[in-house]
Amino acid sequence: MSRSAHPAGPRHADVLPEGHYSAPPADLNALDPKVWAETVTRDADGVLTVGGIDVKRLAEEFGTPAYFLDERDFRARARAWRTAFGGDADVFYAGKAFLSRAVVRWLDEEGLNLDVCSGGELATALSGGMPAERIAFHGNNKSVAEIRRAVEAGVGRIVLDSFQEIVRVAHIARELGRRQRVQIRVTVGVEAHTHEFIATAHEDQKFGIPLAGGQAAEAVRRALQLDGIELIGIHSHIGSQIFDMSGFEVAAHRVVGLLREIRDEHGVELPEIDLGGGLGIAYTSGDDPREPHEIAKALTEIVTRECEAARLTTPRISVEPGRAVVGPTAFTLYEVGTVKPLEGLRTYVSVDGGMSDNIRTALYDAEYSVVLASRVSDAEPVLCRVVGKHCESGDIVVKDAFLPGDLAPGDLVAVPATGAYCRSMASNYNHVLRPPVVAVRDGEARVIVRRETEEDLLRLDVG
Ligand SMILES: *Cc1c(COP(=O)(O)O)cnc(C)c1O
Repeated sequence: MSRSAHPAGPRHADVLPEGHYSAPPADLNALDPKVWAETVTRDADGVLTVGGIDVKRLAEEFGTPAYFLDERDFRARARAWRTAFGGDADVFYAGKAFLSRAVVRWLDEEGLNLDVCSGGELATALSGGMPAERIAFHGNNKSVAEIRRAVEAGVGRIVLDSFQEIVRVAHIARELGRRQRVQIRVTVGVEAHTHEFIATAHEDQKFGIPLAGGQAAEAVRRALQLDGIELIGIHSHIGSQIFDMSGFEVAAHRVVGLLREIRDEHGVELPEIDLGGGLGIAYTSGDDPREPHEIAKALTEIVTRECEAARLTTPRISVEPGRAVVGPTAFTLYEVGTVKPLEGLRTYVSVDGGMSDNIRTALYDAEYSVVLASRVSDAEPVLCRVVGKHCESGDIVVKDAFLPGDLAPGDLVAVPATGAYCRSMASNYNHVLRPPVVAVRDGEARVIVRRETEEDLLRLDVG
């Protein structure tokens, strides 16, 4: 890299990361539509707006840090998934990405079903009005109380994850005089991440029952014998933030292989196949995710082709996108507190949140982008690291990003694509209060999860 090509100063070249930020973007004020929700734009004064409301007003009314969720965008993405599959498949939104009662209502209205994986998520789903038969219950160690509650509520399916659980759910359902519809989650030996997948991955993980060694076939054998449960299908989930569809191809091939074995051994054709979630989104301009209709077409073709080859009636497909529905719909708004240029290294920008509202950077080395939101600037770009306020040096929100050199305390910065796995993984580390989620639509902003208060914290501390 030549010196002149690098406005942030040649000394930064030593520490510039590989990848998306190896050079500053042409225009620091520009908003890449790939990473921002549908209605996000800058107004005539250059202030970031969402749903027609500018972030200065939002910060004044709701404080910072806060997550602002574009309701129009959320509904559009949910609908896109729904219509991409048409009547041929069921779309289950993975509630663990982000769940609140407002979200449950939007999903219900847009025709999506809902995955939950704990009693708390189940309670939220039911309280939000999702019909129980459209709820799927996941998890590798559901408690007896959780299973009982799910069966009593009448959830549409429980996804069984172990030999013990097959017996446990069957027993509880019998006790309650029910026949619970179930799927068995299998591990197919495929591991998929952003751009690559491993077709010969070890089944060395806590989820699912391995196809290898006939374990999954044995689980099916046992499930078919128990009258408390009705086995309706096989479930597979191969990874997260996946862009490359070939991992699904291998997974579908192997799951259909099991369906064929089941037909040959038991004379039963299971009516459903669930391919899980894990579809990727754009966190930075370097990411190029597929559209739901492309994914639907690819998955439907793969399953149909595999079933034709195995002479099976094509089962009904389910998919479980979480991140791909909610991730791009929200951004986090922070206020800058301090700006600390480190000679020869980079500039540390401290914001009023951090790893308590976004653990993904620390946990997964995730990449995010960031913009100055409260104004535009034509100052020179400076290589920055956006960090939080926690007592922990790994408390990083955005590892490497260029921000204008005149960034100062009091400025607002916004980090896009924080709708998934941010509020849902938020913590109270350092007794920092968890931020609110504010839904914005057509000039109206509404709190859907309120900001935590010190009273909330102290209420749990019984002294
Ligand atoms: C986490 C999870 C999902 C959703 O994953 P995303 O990456 O958010 O799409 C779907 N299904 C299962 C079983 C999961 O564990």
